[in-house]
Amino acid sequence: MSPSIITSNWFRFSFPLLLAAVLGFGMNNVISVTQANLGIAMNLPTVLFLTAIILGHTFNQSRCSMVALAMLITYSLIQYRLQTSLSTGTTLLELSLMSVLLPIACLLTYAFKDSNILTRTFIYYCAVLLMFIAWSYLILQHFASGGFDNFIDDLLFSVPQVSKLPFVLVLYLIALSGITAILVLKNNRIADVVVYSAIVTASCTFIFFHVPYVSSTMFSLSGVLLLVYLVSASHELAFNDSLTGIPGRHALEMDLKHLGRKYSIAMLDVDHFKSFNDTYGHDTGDDVLKLVASRLALITGRAKVYRYGGEEFTAIFKGKYVDEVLDHLELLRVDIEEYEMSLRNIASRPKSDVDGTKKRGKAKKTDTVNITISIGVADSTTDNKPESVIKAADKALYKAKQTGRNKVAY
Ligand code: GH3
Ligand code: MG
Ligand code: MG
Repeated sequence: MSPSIITSNWFRFSFPLLLAAVLGFGMNNVISVTQANLGIAMNLPTVLFLTAIILGHTFNQSRCSMVALAMLITYSLIQYRLQTSLSTGTTLLELSLMSVLLPIACLLTYAFKDSNILTRTFIYYCAVLLMFIAWSYLILQHFASGGFDNFIDDLLFSVPQVSKLPFVLVLYLIALSGITAILVLKNNRIADVVVYSAIVTASCTFIFFHVPYVSSTMFSLSGVLLLVYLVSASHELAFNDSLTGIPGRHALEMDLKHLGRKYSIAMLDVDHFKSFNDTYGHDTGDDVLKLVASRLALITGRAKVYRYGGEEFTAIFKGKYVDEVLDHLELLRVDIEEYEMSLRNIASRPKSDVDGTKKRGKAKKTDTVNITISIGVADSTTDNKPESVIKAADKALYKAKQTGRNKVAY
């Protein structure tokens, strides 16, 4: 399977559901395997979550560590407090509190920035979790002293055919799973899948709490998924360019090895970017590169765009010769030319307006700028070594620059 399928939003959306469903349907087998390896099965989630916390720290993915910590605390509480029948004592109330608070704890990670776990943000998060626990404790105390008598019967009624969990909480969990699923489908960031998979697996546990060993099974699945996403995040870090977020030189070099016989390579270079930097400063230049890259990533014709280095980008079209890609490149060139880039704090007006406009970094009265790119393209017809095709594309790019820029040459 190609990495792009594995990291696609639909795959990330359906993967946790699929695995949970497989485990659900094979639950009888899962139960007998768990019973045969009780010690390992019960401790597996703890080991997985601790590993995720530490890996999240080393990969600077502290939000993943936060979710792993919330899951670990929940799992431990289930093991220590909820091993009695739901109809005894405060068990059902405790389960209800967990099913309300755990998804909130997961969603709260959106309020934080990723870094390692030896930071103030991680301590804040731990403080929030402690507050949740203290709050739950107060509620349980209140319950013990006779509060909530009607509340439990009125609001927390359950529909036994569906779940022993209060019906309103079943709806709540399904709604939150749906909302986080939408975030995965829309944004498809690692943080989205981490939160989504944790909420889905925890929801399965809470809703089907009467099934034996459901917590160790679902929380193990959650731990495995967290580790998969951590590896995936570190993979993205290694292959994606840190400024623009699109694949970088390393990814390009890997992909050049799997091009097949028929392909085209285009080299794209921002016009007069040096004078743009000189006029607006390097930081604004960086912002423009980010915007240009996000635009280039929308290229049509099933091409993939990489940052080659500096203000140069590479587009690869597999299975197409030059005559089949020219239209796509022309569309892209026009799109960039017409793209009005609004820049923040562009306080430094061009040192010389003549300079700013004559060279392509056209400055308008407002704080939007336009930029143009030149493109050179070549294909594998005469020589199918990628290095040779890149060289030929570079030659074509030089031709585009020599003959006026803002054009596609081949
Ligand atoms: P041409 O139209 O011939 O391509 O002119 P140019 O000025 O774009 O080309 P040149 O290769 O002379 O300059 C490229 C400039 O791109 C040099 C450097 O200031 C700028 N640049 C390269 N990488 C970065 C970057 O990461 N950030 C910023 N802000 N500027 C960069
Ligand atoms: Mg250049
Ligand atoms: Mg340039």
